[in-house]
Amino acid sequence: MSENKYDFDYLIVGQGVGGSVLAWNLMERGHRVLVLDDPSLPSSSMVAAGIFNPLTGRKLVRTWMADELFPVAQNFYKRLEDRLSASFHHSMSFVRPYRSLEEQNAYMAQSAEPHIAPYIGPSMDTATLLPYIHAPYGGLPIIHSGWVDLPVFLEASRRFWQEQGLFRDECFQVQDLAFNESGVSWKGLSFRKAILCQGALAMENDYFNWLPFTPVKGEILEIETEQNIKPYLINQGIFFLPLDRHRLKVGATYSWDPLNWETTMEARKELEDKIRPIFTAPFQTVNQKAGIRPSVRDRRPLVGMHPELPQLGIFNGLGTKGVTLAPYFANNFVEHLEYGKELNPLVNIKRYFSLYFR
Ligand SMILES: Cc1cc2nc3c(=O)[nH]c(=O)nc-3n(C[C@H](O)[C@H](O)[C@H](O)COP(=O)(O)OP(=O)(O)OC[C@H]3O[C@@H](n4cnc5c(N)ncnc54)[C@H](O)[C@@H]3O)c2cc1C
Repeated sequence: MSENKYDFDYLIVGQGVGGSVLAWNLMERGHRVLVLDDPSLPSSSMVAAGIFNPLTGRKLVRTWMADELFPVAQNFYKRLEDRLSASFHHSMSFVRPYRSLEEQNAYMAQSAEPHIAPYIGPSMDTATLLPYIHAPYGGLPIIHSGWVDLPVFLEASRRFWQEQGLFRDECFQVQDLAFNESGVSWKGLSFRKAILCQGALAMENDYFNWLPFTPVKGEILEIETEQNIKPYLINQGIFFLPLDRHRLKVGATYSWDPLNWETTMEARKELEDKIRPIFTAPFQTVNQKAGIRPSVRDRRPLVGMHPELPQLGIFNGLGTKGVTLAPYFANNFVEHLEYGKELNPLVNIKRYFSLYFR
């Protein structure tokens, strides 16, 4: 709770999925939070498909910490749907068409392994169920997957905070922060702590640009078809996410040069070339978006307080999996900040302090 000497307990800079989930975790525990975001700046969360998938990669690898992360994420988004009277958490099974009989055999054998088995659904007749997908060998059903409609979640959160006077639509400049022994101030307001949640734009921030971000650009298409689409996610190198009966999101690309937020003809062609062998119905591309994933050298989030400024923290490095990582690690961070619980060392930015002091 706020002690009277502060206007707010926390200043949260950035209202992507990282800043929003962290702000909710603080507010739900009774802390007073001011959230700051400049909607004219690019945001990876507004581009992302929002998919959560427990088994990824060609080798069917269980997502890092899936057993811990997924229940916390589901619980969080469901709770917020009730609170905001909005619908954005959509459970949806994945189907992974087998590329060959060998792959079918390998996946079937893997499916029995105890760490994979809980995520495999009952077998299905892919040809009848998904006539628009090329799957001559059938497909592996994956459960406990789905997607979060991030723009809906973010806009509902923003509206809620705006109504309570807990949101500012402003561009944050580091020189507007001033530190004192017990807190931090920004534009005449005082806070116990400020936490920066700027996604890939954190690389431009002098306080944390020493962290080893390895940002990755990604592009995504929206396609339309006259075919009736069933509510199943498809994954075979690229994903197909049904938005309604005739529209799907398809993605994503991975590129590094140039690292900007512009859509490109190359990415559109790359995705359309990958769509055609899998998606057999005629389609039209109706939209394209590009974003920058805030990835990190060791592929783990960046959470914790600045090495020399105990009032300034960061919640970032959500990489390709912001939807599932944010709820679990926001909770871990708040318990650390407020109750002194240890921050998971694999995400704590202390692992990189040697880069700051060198
Ligand atoms: C093509 C693509 C597909 C993806 N698909 C998925 C997916 O299916 N599932 C998944 O989990 N993840 C996916 N991701 C990754 C996901 O987008 C990120 O993990 C997540 O959005 C990162 O959230 P963030 O809040 O850290 O950053 P962002 O979403 O970028 O948010 C940062 C916010 O900070 C604000 N900000 C920054 N600087 C300032 C400033 N100076 N003043 C005011 N505001 C500021 C920005 O305006 C922005 O709103 C995808 C990414 C891409 C590019």
